[in-house]
Amino acid sequence: MSAPRPAVTARRAPARRGRTLGELEHHGIEELKAVGTKRAAAFRSIGVSSVLDVVMTYPYRHENRAERLAIAEVVEGQPAAVLGEIERVSTRRLPGRRAMVEAVVGDGSGSLTCTFFNQPWRARTLSVGQHVVLFGKVTRYRHQLQMANPRLDVVDPDGEVPAGRIVPIYSESEKANITTALVEAAVGEALDRAGAFADPLPEPWRRRLHLIERGAAFEQMHRPSAMGEVGPARRRLAFDELFRLQTALVMRKRAAAAASRGIAHLIDPHDPEHRLVDRFIARLPFALTGAQRRVVAEVAADLSGALPMHRLVQGDVGAGKTVVALAALLYGVQGGHQGALMAPTEVLAEQHYLGALDLLAGLEVAAPDRLGGRRAVRCELLTSRTPAGERARLIAALAGGEIDLIVGTHALITEHVRFSSLGVVVIDEQHRFGVDQRAALRDKGAEGAAAGHDPDLLVMTATPIPRTAAMTVYGDLDYSVLDELPAGRAPVTTRWLRNPEAEAEAFEAVRGEVAAGHQAFVVCPLVRPGGSEEDGEEDPEAPGARSAEEESARLAEGPLSGCRIGLLHGQLPAREKARVMEAMRQGEIDVLVATTVVEVGVDVPLATVMVIEDADRFGIAQLHQLRGRVGRASLASRCYLLADEEQATTEAVARLEALERTTDGFELAEIDLDLRGEGTVLGARQKGRNDLKLASLRRDRDLVAQAREVAEALVAADPTLEATQPLLADELRLFIGEEEAEYLFRS
Ligand code: ADP
Ligand code: MG
Repeated sequence: MSAPRPAVTARRAPARRGRTLGELEHHGIEELKAVGTKRAAAFRSIGVSSVLDVVMTYPYRHENRAERLAIAEVVEGQPAAVLGEIERVSTRRLPGRRAMVEAVVGDGSGSLTCTFFNQPWRARTLSVGQHVVLFGKVTRYRHQLQMANPRLDVVDPDGEVPAGRIVPIYSESEKANITTALVEAAVGEALDRAGAFADPLPEPWRRRLHLIERGAAFEQMHRPSAMGEVGPARRRLAFDELFRLQTALVMRKRAAAAASRGIAHLIDPHDPEHRLVDRFIARLPFALTGAQRRVVAEVAADLSGALPMHRLVQGDVGAGKTVVALAALLYGVQGGHQGALMAPTEVLAEQHYLGALDLLAGLEVAAPDRLGGRRAVRCELLTSRTPAGERARLIAALAGGEIDLIVGTHALITEHVRFSSLGVVVIDEQHRFGVDQRAALRDKGAEGAAAGHDPDLLVMTATPIPRTAAMTVYGDLDYSVLDELPAGRAPVTTRWLRNPEAEAEAFEAVRGEVAAGHQAFVVCPLVRPGGSEEDGEEDPEAPGARSAEEESARLAEGPLSGCRIGLLHGQLPAREKARVMEAMRQGEIDVLVATTVVEVGVDVPLATVMVIEDADRFGIAQLHQLRGRVGRASLASRCYLLADEEQATTEAVARLEALERTTDGFELAEIDLDLRGEGTVLGARQKGRNDLKLASLRRDRDLVAQAREVAEALVAADPTLEATQPLLADELRLFIGEEEAEYLFRS
């Protein structure tokens, strides 16, 4: 018996287990005979420069020319391959000087008309009696079977008819003169010469997830012998993309933890005097929901640990994220640190501030050096609007540790702000916040009493995003869900009024609610007629959209005359905005006509009607967020979506119907992902996204979760993967870029 081989041998000689992708990357495209030096430049010009790039150039579809059908057997609407004889050729002139060549092909079982548009040369090359193989989608026009622009190969009637096969179709580049056939040849040669592939996914996982081997996946993707082989191949290759991404994210999370020193917050102090969070919760005018209790406990567990918290809280609109945020901040305060709550807009920061003052009223923190041993918790607001003198005082008080909680906008992370000891940071409505801004705020912790420690960080999203997207975009954060609304909320009834005449119904409802002492919002896309959208570019496509300015005047004179109407949009001076919001909160305004500035966070408990005009112009998340401005107390509330069905796109119809059907933000987030695809959902915060060629967060939701699971298991067992998963570690280095790799693999 031979001596056991040291493990390092296997690690250093991955070739024995087959080709790695890294090896393929080292072979230039010109090494392929099908390419050669001349065409190599063309391939390079479309971003394909190595053999790896070639095998990762995937066909976007496959044509099944393997199975030939008799014309009598073809199915309308399906692609088919048939062999027949040309019976007639003719050319027709279409309006606009375009030519159409028609060829009728028969095979004894029936006949089929091929139509070729804008290919006049077909009339010269096709002739009666030729035997041809056709491939294309079958349609029917006036009882006659047709194929428009089919693939047509003339075959020798006396020779052997070439066997059909499944043909991969690759993107072509006219400019670089790269045809699908050329790509096919290059890929074929690359696969032949590469031989067996190494597989970085451990066998037990591969089996458990029912994935095929990597080598088989490449083979079946590019050269399937049956159409049924393509699906499993795509699945495996898409899994690999997601697996690399998730592994990098999981490692990133670990690396961040390893690189930072957190504050071990005092969660469960012995002295009841110091139990600030317990007192805060006990004094709330309501009991926490089960979900709030669970998430507060998750946050507390993070805070007590030596590593800084990096947690995302997803909650539906109205689920009560503010209370969770305040509890997190107060955990910091009860141990003698400070908390910062950052919001994306001034309206929202103010809203949070007022809400916080309300919930914190009368709350005292232990202060042994004071008479009585306690003092009130001090919470302040700092925005770009804070007057200079006040601002200077606040900044000094923050640096001196006299302020416990600070609420603000981006102004919080500007130059002059210094903390005495920043313990916990909460960022609300993260999707409007840049990563850099987050990092800047975190860096504030490196000063004062907590110098050298990173503050704990809690990120809250305004509206849910799909779980698979969260796993990808926020994959380096821990994740909590507030999936329960406080008891006693009457769900908001939503109606889409599909034609312009029906809008009277909405304003009738507004009048009724106002008469009952309640309030309403009317939201318009534009600030002023023909003007710019509140949070977008001017949209020349929809000049007819309503504006808040014009609509507030029209409603005051007509449908809502007698109501006290306010106007709010982003172009008003800051002072005026604050005044209007305050008047709305105080009930001095019955109907607030606004743009999407009211989208997030605005909390007016007596508001019971939301009317959204030109609702087809808003996205699902936006509509859901707007609708969330009503139904915030136990009063039954309604939302009217105004949009002319005739003018709305199919997608807009789907959005509005989804809003009518459900009030569940998590469900809506999934629908949104289905409708729009991932690009818009993901936004810019992506590293390694360019590696997602096949995987789709929409289609491959299950694969995302599976990839995450494997990544977590492997990284938990071996944080740098070097000892147990060298193939995977190498592959990550190949795909994630040097800088990121250096960070991740630093042990
Ligand atoms: P969101 O999650 O949308 O930010 P908020 O934190 O603004 O929601 O809470 C919405 C409203 O519900 C607020 O008026 C808040 O005081 C109230 N609220 C929060 N938690 C509860 C609860 N457990 N029971 C009753 N009302 C609650
Ligand atoms: Mg909120």
